[in-house]
Amino acid sequence: MATEPEGSNRLLQDVLARPGNDACADCGNPEPDWASLTLGVFVCQACSLLHRSIPHISRVKPLQESWEASEVELMSSAGNRAARVKYEQKVPPFYYRPTHTDCKLLREQWIRARYERNEFEFIEKQEPYSAGYREGFLWKRGRDNGQFLSRKFILSEREGALKYFNKQDARDPKAVMKIETLNATFQPAKIGNPCGLQITYLKDNSTRNIFVYHSDAKETVDWFNAIRAARFHYLQVAFPGASDEELVPKLTRNFMKEGFMEKTGPKHTEGFKKRWFTMDDRRLMYFKDPLDAYARGEVFIGSKENSYTVLPGLPPTTQGYHWPHGITIVTPDRKFLFACETEAEQRDWIASFQRVINRPMRPQEYAVEAHFKHKP
Ligand SMILES: [Zn+2]
Repeated sequence: MATEPEGSNRLLQDVLARPGNDACADCGNPEPDWASLTLGVFVCQACSLLHRSIPHISRVKPLQESWEASEVELMSSAGNRAARVKYEQKVPPFYYRPTHTDCKLLREQWIRARYERNEFEFIEKQEPYSAGYREGFLWKRGRDNGQFLSRKFILSEREGALKYFNKQDARDPKAVMKIETLNATFQPAKIGNPCGLQITYLKDNSTRNIFVYHSDAKETVDWFNAIRAARFHYLQVAFPGASDEELVPKLTRNFMKEGFMEKTGPKHTEGFKKRWFTMDDRRLMYFKDPLDAYARGEVFIGSKENSYTVLPGLPPTTQGYHWPHGITIVTPDRKFLFACETEAEQRDWIASFQRVINRPMRPQEYAVEAHFKHKP
């Protein structure tokens, strides 16, 4: 009998080699090294930790432990493909599927939605984000004082907007954010709350930020997916004939990179100032503080065909004290000079700028570029 677990583990390797079992059932991370015996799925270590928070649903075991023949048999008759068929029967196309680089909130709620709440087996459980209308209270960061206050929010697909109200009995909303320009991205570290959601929208062609959270993790993720649903339905109308695969990547965007750099003004003699930068596709925005309501300025970054270039280092004539690792962005109008604290930051920023410069511009991006050229 002493040899049996070894033989079982060899059989387990065969099960693991089957199509579908080569990536984590929940986040797609390659080479899962844990399994849930109760759900019959292979998962990565990070997801196995989240499964432990639902012990009544999932019992996990590392693959390197010794396995009983009956346990291997169980995994053999189940597996990630079978789980997908059962637990993902009716995932709406707009519903966000996290990857291993997403925040814990998104990964944990995806696991709970699949296995604990069975949201994708019963369509009526999807009402919170599928009805086209949602209202409720969220904690919203005050624009200037940084204090979080409870505010009523209404998301209405019919009106094409997300609105919030400052006073409970107020008839007019404090802000109307058009679904057309809305973006939502989880920013727990920046906001300082595990459920922290950053919502950005355009107002008079300037980007505005609001920072919200709900104390309940499910509610927060429901808001996020309701915004994605509203964006999806808006884009279906705006781009008739476009496939789901074309529209889904446009629903919400994560920022390409964020962090502090130093910048100097147009004359390059003003001295360098430390600012928080956010790279949102082709828009490089800068803020005094990461949680500012609106950007101090923006730099549009076009493509190499349109004379945009990024170079490491600063022109030799650059004056004043600054961080050691320079970056120069050349646009058709002027040069933008930045300085990074570390070489790794410089490398990351250059890679982000290079990604958009290497990509040809889409027709609608020329309109954005034109707007920036006419800005003082
Ligand atoms: Zn995983």
